[in-house]
Amino acid sequence: MLKLDNHSSGRHFLHIPGPSPVPSRVLRAISYQTIDHRGPEFGAFGLRVLEGVKKIFKTEQPVIIYSASGTGSWEGALVNVMNPGDKVLFYETGHFAALWKALAAKIGLQVEVVGKVGEDTWRWGIDASVIEERLRKDTQHEIKAVCVVHNETSTGMTSNIAAVRKAIDAAKHPALLIVDSVSGIGSADYEHDKWGVDVTVAGSQKGLMLPPGIGFNALSPKAIEVSKHSKIPKAYLAWDEILESNKNGYWPTTPSTNLMYGLHEAMDMMMNEGLDTIFARHQRLGEACRRAVAAWGLENQCQDSSAYSPVLTAARVPEGMDADLVRKHALEKFNLSLGTGLGKLKGKIFRIGHLGDCNELSLMAALSGVEMSLGAMGYKPKESGVVAAQEFLK
Ligand SMILES: *Cc1c(COP(=O)(O)O)cnc(C)c1O
Repeated sequence: MLKLDNHSSGRHFLHIPGPSPVPSRVLRAISYQTIDHRGPEFGAFGLRVLEGVKKIFKTEQPVIIYSASGTGSWEGALVNVMNPGDKVLFYETGHFAALWKALAAKIGLQVEVVGKVGEDTWRWGIDASVIEERLRKDTQHEIKAVCVVHNETSTGMTSNIAAVRKAIDAAKHPALLIVDSVSGIGSADYEHDKWGVDVTVAGSQKGLMLPPGIGFNALSPKAIEVSKHSKIPKAYLAWDEILESNKNGYWPTTPSTNLMYGLHEAMDMMMNEGLDTIFARHQRLGEACRRAVAAWGLENQCQDSSAYSPVLTAARVPEGMDADLVRKHALEKFNLSLGTGLGKLKGKIFRIGHLGDCNELSLMAALSGVEMSLGAMGYKPKESGVVAAQEFLK
C-alpha cells in the first residue's frame, strides 16, 4: 500500500489553507462503485447534485461543474465571456489574484491592475472606490470585466464583494463582475445572486471538504447571454454543451463520478449543519487564531480588520527568521502541515488554515504545534497563543 504518512501513529494535521481535511463520510462516499455516467441512475444523481450546488453558491442560476482544478475554472470563466484582446481589470490582493491576471494575459486578454495608491494591496482588502474611480474614467467602456478574489488565500484576506458590485453600478459601467471564491466558498459567507456576481469561480478542495479535482463556474443570466457571442476559441471549457447536457443530469464528457459522490455527501453535511452555523464556526476559529498570533507577538499579514479571513490566518515572522523553517519543524516533529508563503511572501509568512472540516480542537492542536515550533526556532513568544485562543474559545 502507498504510504504517504510520515508518522506512524496518530493523524496528520493538514492545516494548509487547502486542500483541507476530507471528512470520513465524504471519503466513504467517494469509495462507492463508479457507475455508468450515461445510465439512468447517474442522470437522476446528476440533477440532484446540480440543484444542490446552487444552494452553496446561493444562486437560482446554473452552476457549471468541471473536472478541473481552480485554475481550469478561472480559465473557464474568462474564455466563455470574453473576446480576444478584451480589457480586464484586476485588483491585486495577493498571489492568487496575480496568477489569475497572468492566466488572463496568456489567453490574449489585455490586463490592467489597480490598487489603492500608497498601500501594500497584499495587506488590505479591496478598496472598491478605486475600482469605481477607474470605471468612471472608462467612458468608452473598454473594460469588459472586473476580476476580484473573494478570499485571497495567499494573504488571509476576505474582500467585500457586494461593495465591488456597488462600485460598478455607481460608475454605471457594463463590465461583468467575475469573482474567485475558490477558497471562500463553503467557509465564508457567499451570495452569488444577491451580490450581483456574473461568474463565480470555485474549486472542490478548500471549504467544500473534498479532494482536489472539481471546479465550478456559477453563472448569471447576463454571463450566459454574453457567452453566446464570445469569440475566444474554447472546447472542453465551453459552457454551451455542458449546460445542454446538464438539463438531463449528464455531462458531454465523463464527469468525476466519484468526486461528485463526495460533493453530494459534503453538501448534505453542510445543509445539516446549516450554512450560517458553518460561517459562524469559521468566524470563531478565525478570531481564536488571530488572538493566538497576536499573543505570540507576530503580525497578521492582513492589516485590515474589516478583511480578516475566516478561512485562514497568515502570520508574519520577525525579520531574520525563516517561516519555512517553522513549517519544516512543525511537519517533521508534529506531523502538522502549515501553508507556505507564496510569491514575494516566501519565507516571510506561514499560513494556518481553519477552513472546511475544522473545529475548536483541531485548531488548538495546530496552534499548539505552531507554538512549539516557534519555540524550537529560538523565538520567544510574548505570551502563549494557545492560552489566548483557549480563553476566547472556552
Ligand atoms: C487554491 C486557489 C486557486 C487555484 O486553485 P487550483 O485548484 O490550485 O488550480 C485559485 N484561487 C484561490 C483563491 C485559491 O485559493
